[in-house]
Amino acid sequence: MNYDVIIIGAGPGGIFSAYELTLLKPDLKVAVFEAGHALHKRHCPIDGETVKSCISCRSCSIMSGFGGAGAFSDGKYNITNDFGGTLHEVIGKKRALDLMHYVDQINMRYGGEGTKLYSTAGTKFKKECIQHDLHLLDASVRHLGTDINYVVLENLYAYLQDKVDFYFDTPVESVAIVDGVYEIVCKDGRYTCKQCIISVGRSGSKWMERVCKELKIPTKSNRVDIGVRVELPAEVFAHLTDELYESKIVYCTKGYGDRVRTFCMNPRGAVVNENTNGIITVNGHSYEDPAKQTENTNFALLVAKHFSEPFKDSNGYGESIARLSNMLGGGVIVQRFGDLIRGRRSNQNRIDEAFITPTLKATPGDLSLVLPKRILDGIIEMIYALDKVAPGTANDDTLLYGVEVKFYNMEVEVSEDLESCNKGLYIIGDGSGITHSLSHASASGVHVARKIATQ
Ligand SMILES: Cc1cc2nc3c(=O)[nH]c(=O)nc-3n(C[C@H](O)[C@H](O)[C@H](O)COP(=O)(O)OP(=O)(O)OC[C@H]3O[C@@H](n4cnc5c(N)ncnc54)[C@H](O)[C@@H]3O)c2cc1C
Repeated sequence: MNYDVIIIGAGPGGIFSAYELTLLKPDLKVAVFEAGHALHKRHCPIDGETVKSCISCRSCSIMSGFGGAGAFSDGKYNITNDFGGTLHEVIGKKRALDLMHYVDQINMRYGGEGTKLYSTAGTKFKKECIQHDLHLLDASVRHLGTDINYVVLENLYAYLQDKVDFYFDTPVESVAIVDGVYEIVCKDGRYTCKQCIISVGRSGSKWMERVCKELKIPTKSNRVDIGVRVELPAEVFAHLTDELYESKIVYCTKGYGDRVRTFCMNPRGAVVNENTNGIITVNGHSYEDPAKQTENTNFALLVAKHFSEPFKDSNGYGESIARLSNMLGGGVIVQRFGDLIRGRRSNQNRIDEAFITPTLKATPGDLSLVLPKRILDGIIEMIYALDKVAPGTANDDTLLYGVEVKFYNMEVEVSEDLESCNKGLYIIGDGSGITHSLSHASASGVHVARKIATQ
């Protein structure tokens, strides 16, 4: 036996399980296998000058490596059961919230101290939103910011590096059960362990599907969220973002009864490209450091699509729409809201003459050629609804980048200990389809480590 515990994936789920194991059971021999690079080697080559768009690196530094998909994220740790995953349905509401608070304490201890914790408790915006048929969800939000989030990861790695064996640039090819132990197969070797924690996130979704098939772990299809990223002058949302930072607002469309929601709000932030399995979609960042802030705020407007029999491939549906935008725009498309509602494409002239400067270089185009009518109608309806609580949202110059897609892993069947039908094999974080956020993924890591530590 090489190890007591092998963790596959060094995203927040993997990191927090390693952290908690070293704390509770320092004698255990633990290894972490990570397909991507060590933190200091993670660099996206897009610099806006020599490399303007994604060149599909073998290992995407945005999605993979120590810190996982969250490493260059905005570092918003939402402490809530209302969104960010359904961990509470598996482990219980109180336990899930307690774990998220615990993760927050660790983040504070490892460099996050002094960052702001926002809360919707007692806010006047709740009433204001309801008056316009908009629904503000409850949450506390710790905003680390991209810069502090990185510092926390550096500090956690410094703590872990001599307690755990890290194998970077080492994608695990397969997991097999051999003579009652787990055999982890990589290109250059085979390793065995008594217990295995799989935490491969969204980038490992296809691999996870294969492992579930091979180890006969039941799964069910999940949803896909499709929409756009909205960018507007920071003043338009400042009254909300100054108090709440991130406001999760849900709207039910009159036309179709679909739910449209705001997602990942980045006050004074920047819009960025995201590469998921070679498909370029859009996302957003923001920084705690005022020197790095911009004059714009961005957030996504997303519509969730669930499919019923016979169609199961919700991610495939989202990928096809994103591919269409990549085909038309060579990547992400940007359009002024005014051009969209007048039924004309945006061109570079109209973008240049707008009263807002885009923070992402995207191809001016026509999102109505990409997004299904039902989704686009819902987004337009929500923009007009938001205009009532944040006047200016529906201005002609508001920029819409498309497409933004949130892919979800298929949901893996696990027990309340997040253990699969194979004893000693745990599936946590976004790779389980149960979590979709930094806080929930991290909490699931602590939960499993505590379970292992009691054995
Ligand atoms: C740009 C961006 C911004 C975001 N912003 C936020 C935010 O502000 N707040 C929030 O809550 N969430 C945010 N998210 C989502 C958040 O990052 C994820 O929910 C979170 O990282 C999930 O953690 P995880 O550990 O489950 O998976 P991941 O972070 O995806 O980590 C999984 C790791 O496993 C590795 N891996 C995959 N397959 C293998 C294999 N076969 N062998 C070895 N290693 C493998 C991957 O390389 C990766 O490093 C953001 C995501 C992105 C992309």
